[in-house]
Amino acid sequence: MRRLRKDRFRPLVRETEIDVKDLICPVFVDETIKVPVKISSMPGCFSFPIDMIADEAGCIADLGIPALILFGVPGEKDETGSHAFGDNDVIQEAVRAIKSETGNDIIIMTDLCLCEYTSHGHCGIVDFETHEILNDPTLDILGKTAVSHARAGADIIAPSGMMDGMVKAIRSGLDDNGFSNTPIMSYAAKYSSAFYGPFREAAKSGFSFGDRASYQMDPANGNEAMREVALDIEEGADIIMVKPAMPYLDIIYRVKKKFKMPTAAYQVSGEYAMIKAAAQNGWIDERKAMMESLISIKRAGADMILTYFAKDAAKILNE
Ligand SMILES: [Zn+2]
Repeated sequence: MRRLRKDRFRPLVRETEIDVKDLICPVFVDETIKVPVKISSMPGCFSFPIDMIADEAGCIADLGIPALILFGVPGEKDETGSHAFGDNDVIQEAVRAIKSETGNDIIIMTDLCLCEYTSHGHCGIVDFETHEILNDPTLDILGKTAVSHARAGADIIAPSGMMDGMVKAIRSGLDDNGFSNTPIMSYAAKYSSAFYGPFREAAKSGFSFGDRASYQMDPANGNEAMREVALDIEEGADIIMVKPAMPYLDIIYRVKKKFKMPTAAYQVSGEYAMIKAAAQNGWIDERKAMMESLISIKRAGADMILTYFAKDAAKILNE
């Protein structure tokens, strides 16, 4: 087996390649700030004010990264997340700013959920007596929000709230409002994961009670992920996602093998932070660990990877 492992032969027999075109760059836009703010738990990542978001998108496009995904932090939060869907709210303003600056140079995906917009930090409407997250009342708001994103110019809508029936509600909302050509990338198999911790600082979306285990998936379950993905495809999802990535490589593999759909994997904030922190301590080689993590996700079957390493990895891949 060692004959072909010489440096000269390795490229010839390499089975998996990662390309800059596989990357999707998450971007945080925050209505409450005036200058870029460092996200301390995600070294190298920043939140941007609305008026600087187009420049950031331009930098990402210049690296050859084909898509970004926007997360918004609104100026005001309330119980129903009503600042998720106004035409002049943070995401809608940011999308318009990016579109007018970059045109079709980059695909604008918008994360669609209520947790950044609700005062309690949950992904849906809450019954405060029972502390239950109400599924169906949330769907109307998700549909309305998707339409507002599309109207602002979003290219792909990416619902992440794990409400049952969300893809169907969003699909019919889009279709009824003249956006039948706007694709949906569904966070189909999203696990209730401890690896989301650093993101909550960035998105200012910690929750006031409980956790998200009543709607996100149990990390112990694989077959359930197949059912979740099947439902989302049936409801009209164009791209399906597994999140997080590295602790769920088996799920990525199974999903790709079974459904053969365009499949995305989200290398989440905690996965990023672990590599960064270990590298800062001199415990691992950051560059190698980053590229190895990305190739493993690709090898498992992901067609595209949402990663906070997108810009760093693009620079290496462009070398
Ligand atoms: Zn959410």
